[in-house]
Amino acid sequence: MDGSHAIGVDLGGTKILAGVVTRTGEIVRRHERPTLTDSQDSLVRELELAVDELMSPDVAALGLGVPGPLDLRTGRTFDMVNLPFHDFPLREHMAERFGRPVGLDNDANAAAIAEWRVGAGRGVDDLVMLTLGTGLGGGVISNGTPFRPARGAGAELGHVVIVHDGRPCQGSCTGRGHLEPYVTGLAATKAAQAAFGPEADARVLIRLADDGDEQARTILAEIGSYLGSGMGSFANIFAPELILIGGGFGVAAWAHLIPAAEHVMRREALRPMRDTVRVVRAELGTDAGLIGAGFVAFEALDAQ
Ligand SMILES: [Zn+2]
Repeated sequence: MDGSHAIGVDLGGTKILAGVVTRTGEIVRRHERPTLTDSQDSLVRELELAVDELMSPDVAALGLGVPGPLDLRTGRTFDMVNLPFHDFPLREHMAERFGRPVGLDNDANAAAIAEWRVGAGRGVDDLVMLTLGTGLGGGVISNGTPFRPARGAGAELGHVVIVHDGRPCQGSCTGRGHLEPYVTGLAATKAAQAAFGPEADARVLIRLADDGDEQARTILAEIGSYLGSGMGSFANIFAPELILIGGGFGVAAWAHLIPAAEHVMRREALRPMRDTVRVVRAELGTDAGLIGAGFVAFEALDAQ
């Protein structure tokens, strides 16, 4: 064990992506399995099996990217919306089970860390990453350090209010007018169905827009303008050099979302951010969370 390899695990709502990662962010082996959500026991067992599959003597640490709130001081999970974790001592359990140091982080933070270390955010000290998939994940690097409140673990950028008393959030969020229900793939699918019928979805909407359909382009531009409201606020709070846009929907709809988003963002942002912030496409795709979890593992190893 020379400390050159770690296992990173991106625990998603439907699948577990695990990989052996090097300190330069290369994935040398990978394994994928379904996320079982019927009970905490079966979820933990699947996590262990994912790690078992990749474990070897050269693996020095584990890192987990988790899609829900964590207590980073104790390494315990809080109750989660999408996964059956209930105040579970995840860090301690995995450290005992595998005899390696374990690092935990929010999954969107892990993706931001990967882009910052080896992706589109290399060499930048302040960045905000927005992962636009079915939902919205947010990760922040601030002054050269991942932004990690002790309880909560990440920046819940999808749950800032952009419309007072607006659309309701889903799941356990009781909020209204939060950014998430306006800018995700799910929001695009709902808008597509309202405009083009029940068979349409975000993918169809993007294809129509690519083909020049004016209505589709207008819908995506409107989604982009909501995104710009959030981005302008994040520019004012975090003063990022870069705002990275990732996620399946964010990358696929980039050309239709970003002109409107940038226009609104620059209206809302104060100087100097208005003039300096750049909006950039994320580079690592769906591997970002897994690679980032690997970096979180090395962080835990090096902190020992
Ligand atoms: Zn919300």
